[in-house]
Amino acid sequence: MAKIRILAAIVINALWTDEASGKTLPKFVTDELHGYMSCGILGRGFAHLYCKTYREYHAVAFSCKTRAVCPSCLGRRMSEGALNLVDHILPDVPIRQFVLTLPFCADAIR
Ligand SMILES: [Zn+2]
Repeated sequence: MAKIRILAAIVINALWTDEASGKTLPKFVTDELHGYMSCGILGRGFAHLYCKTYREYHAVAFSCKTRAVCPSCLGRRMSEGALNLVDHILPDVPIRQFVLTLPFCADAIR
């Protein structure tokens, strides 16, 4: 998995680097890519946790916590947002979601 991430970052960097003019990706993009490359890799840092129930030690790798590239961190952020909505914001009543789509000709009404 780590090799795929590194290869993806190299390819993206190469595609967006214009050596003739010296233009490269913006720093915030390369920071996101570097964060994604090190996300969840034990060799880049981890926390050592102990489970009292099962009496086992676990090594949990640090996450990148980026907002655009890493699907793992995006999924975690999305789950936390949904949990916050359910626990703190939405009232405890049945909720139904509707999606309204209009035909293309109705778009001309605006
Ligand atoms: Zn991540």
